[in-house]
Amino acid sequence: MIATDLVILGGGITGLGIARLASRNGWSVTLVERGDLASGASSASSHMLHGGLRYLEHGHLRLVREALGERAAIARMAPALTTPVRFLVPLTRGSRLPAWKLRAGLALYDLLAGKRELAPHSMARAAEAAAMEPALARDGLLGAGLYSDGVMDDARLAVAVARDAAAHGARILTYTRLVSAKPSSAEPGTHDVVLRENDTRAETHLRAKLFVNATGAWSDATRLDMLRMLRPGASDPKPQLGPSRGVHLVYPALTRSHGLLITAASDGRVFFVVPFAGRSLVGTTEVETLSPPEPAQCVATIEEVRYLAREVARVLPGAAAARPLAVMSGVRPLLRADGGAGDASREHRVTDDGPLLTIAGGKWTTFRIMAREVLHAAAPKLGRDLRALDDPALPLPVPLHASADAVAVSAHAVEQEFARHLDDVLRRRSSLWLADDRGMSAAPAVASAMARRLGWTPAQERDESAAWEHHVHEQAALLDRALERQGA
Ligand SMILES: Cc1cc2nc3c(=O)[nH]c(=O)nc-3n(C[C@H](O)[C@H](O)[C@H](O)COP(=O)(O)OP(=O)(O)OC[C@H]3O[C@@H](n4cnc5c(N)ncnc54)[C@H](O)[C@@H]3O)c2cc1C
Repeated sequence: MIATDLVILGGGITGLGIARLASRNGWSVTLVERGDLASGASSASSHMLHGGLRYLEHGHLRLVREALGERAAIARMAPALTTPVRFLVPLTRGSRLPAWKLRAGLALYDLLAGKRELAPHSMARAAEAAAMEPALARDGLLGAGLYSDGVMDDARLAVAVARDAAAHGARILTYTRLVSAKPSSAEPGTHDVVLRENDTRAETHLRAKLFVNATGAWSDATRLDMLRMLRPGASDPKPQLGPSRGVHLVYPALTRSHGLLITAASDGRVFFVVPFAGRSLVGTTEVETLSPPEPAQCVATIEEVRYLAREVARVLPGAAAARPLAVMSGVRPLLRADGGAGDASREHRVTDDGPLLTIAGGKWTTFRIMAREVLHAAAPKLGRDLRALDDPALPLPVPLHASADAVAVSAHAVEQEFARHLDDVLRRRSSLWLADDRGMSAAPAVASAMARRLGWTPAQERDESAAWEHHVHEQAALLDRALERQGA
């Protein structure tokens, strides 16, 4: 029986951030993720380390200021996985946003960022904007605002946080589920826990003091299951999430170097073109889902693909002839709001149910703030003193260099980065999924290097490759169906 202070459910950035901070402060931690690390929203974000310019319009000044502080801290922690990017906000005839308001918003954004780590905002005339990004539609272009934000490799940054947690003693278990938890009769105040590994069905028995539910869009369901186990007979908790799906299309680079912040013509929503790893991420959509989302609600629809393709082609006409390479889809764990997903706050909340703390809401960028709040709620329950919480913005473990070959990447991913399946490596430990062939030509070498380390049989190795091939074909078929019929 392994004794642990905390069992954290969920290996997205929220759970990993908590595991990192708790283990750095000497707590014993076991993190349980039912799939791969960052396989939920944490690898499907817009890849922005940002305060969120658009939240200024909603008056969320504190959220924006805190997130801008985190933008700077995370950039210092992971320079190899973050890049400063200049974003252009085109001003067009008849646009919702007048120039004065944009200028004021950008000035406030700079002010809230405080110490200048990134270049401050500026305004450009139409000709200057077009010279910076010749692909921009000229029709009705009046000028542009320019500001700076950070772009990150979300999945690999999450893995770096996991490595930091493990380096400080956290036990990170992926492809594992918690199958039972009940008050311990042997040691009052603790709980007997059984975990089961998905593939081997091997069980781990733990004695845990406290549970943290960091399961993102699935946290209402996890809270219900956990409380039924921990407090049998008590009434069920009310759901607190109003999740929403967000989709991005991955295009070949559509701009020279800038990101774009655009207002969609069809519905007035803000969306981005984000330069990332030589590609352009175009998104996102916002479609409400159930809590928890049904599996079919986690994938992109034809309508979302068409919406993004249409809107981006309006601003960057060249995009109409470019075919997206890939589709990303993730579900935001938003706290429920009255006005629909677009109005939902990006704030987070820690809910205390005695032996279970649930953390819901928030943003990728604010993961360290969320971790601190969870530790503050957990400390008295564990008899810990948190007056000297150690949370330095020290460098995270460094990833392999981008030029490493597929075999080296696989070895490193299995040995250092908790990779267990082929798509863990292709999609979340490397940029191979962004290659023109979506990593298909690298897949056999990656699979065979993984097979050697993980002891796969030839049949398992074939199944892993077939699963990736299926995923790539499915995405290609969706793009074909969505774009051919409308002639995009
Ligand atoms: C389209 C989109 C764009 C976004 N863009 C940005 C952005 O640019 N910048 C930004 O700061 N934020 C952004 N966000 C928000 C950010 O991505 C999320 O807030 C963040 O990733 C949530 O992390 P999480 O760990 O809470 O959830 P997730 O990453 O979803 O992780 C939850 C994990 O829990 C696991 N799980 C579920 N049930 C169980 C269980 N019973 N047991 C064990 N494990 C379980 C899941 O497999 C999953 O891995 C975006 C989100 C979306 C969807």
